[in-house]
Amino acid sequence: MDASNATPPPGLEAPKLADIQMLRKIAALGFLLGALLDVGTLVLPDPDTRDHGHMVAIAVIPLTLGLILVFGRRLSDRAIKLIAVTGGIITISALVAVILPLGAALMFYCWPAMTAGYFCTRRELYANLGLLAVTCGAALAVSRSAEITGSTWGVTVTISVVVALGVSGLVRRNVALLDQLHDVATTDGLTGLLNRRTFEPVLEREVARALRAGVPLSVALFDLDHFKLVNDRFGHAAGDAALQRFGALLGSETRTTDVAARTGGEEFTVLLFGTDVEGARAWAEGVSALLIADTLDEDISLSASVGVATLGGRVTTPDELLLAADRALYAAKAAGRRQVMVAGPEHQRVLTVAA
Ligand code: GH3
Ligand code: MG
Ligand code: MG
Repeated sequence: MDASNATPPPGLEAPKLADIQMLRKIAALGFLLGALLDVGTLVLPDPDTRDHGHMVAIAVIPLTLGLILVFGRRLSDRAIKLIAVTGGIITISALVAVILPLGAALMFYCWPAMTAGYFCTRRELYANLGLLAVTCGAALAVSRSAEITGSTWGVTVTISVVVALGVSGLVRRNVALLDQLHDVATTDGLTGLLNRRTFEPVLEREVARALRAGVPLSVALFDLDHFKLVNDRFGHAAGDAALQRFGALLGSETRTTDVAARTGGEEFTVLLFGTDVEGARAWAEGVSALLIADTLDEDISLSASVGVATLGGRVTTPDELLLAADRALYAAKAAGRRQVMVAGPEHQRVLTVAA
């Protein structure tokens, strides 16, 4: 595992751009209005009334699909897309087959083309565009409209494909941008670990989860020793590289259920879910020993002071847990640094980390 282990834990994923319930509402409205429009136009002046019987019959399709979307229970995402997009294409093709005169009816294909581009996967998009091309061709073939020319089908399908792919491209780009923005907002740019702002709600959630499940939760607060000297002696860039290195070490030493964050300049906090105080102490000692061993033969040798605290006893809230770990960390600093200190009167003892 590397520092990418620090990707936001469940519940902190980037928000999604395409909300399928939005499609459900838009499509339900579209179908019901379409059915109303279909029947409504029959009472308006019409240059060609031969299609009226068919138009009434066809209104049943959007009416049924609209009602399913409004009242259907437990419709899966795929079912909603199938009804909204594929159902939309079939409805429009049925309309194109019978409506007289054809007028602007072909323009309706832009609607399923747009929704397919926005909500569908690439595979679903291509399948729907294929269906559109076939059913539009069939509808034009049976239509009695005099307005159809040799290029009608080609123009309609081309416009639909351009609209669908254009929308799809924009959506994919926006999703990528949203992911990037989410990463920038939630992770620390230098180490890739969670940043302080994101860590706080995660801590609250994990404390609540641990208390609810009766599972131990420990926190280890690392502060690199005399880090100012690293910057002073080797420069800020070397200091940054050392911080990155420690971030990667934490990333590689944590499990997927643990959460590692850079909560200060050279301060790092790790939540160890399901780990009791002894486990957390041993883990923190192991990481500290690795840090010392890793940099032993190098110009910049690093060590950390660590405060460890566990939920339980008088420590029952996120703030109390952090405070307990912070106090232990300060005790570790005061006792000469380069060591792990466990919080709590019954556990408090100095554990010197061997090089
Ligand atoms: P102590 O052992 O008491 O913790 O000493 P310290 O020097 O590590 O602590 P102090 O709080 O005095 O200084 C922290 C240093 O960490 C000073 C600051 O320049 C450095 N630092 C904080 N953030 C960064 C960063 O992003 N990059 C670099 N290169 N240095 C940083
Ligand atoms: Mg500090
Ligand atoms: Mg320090």
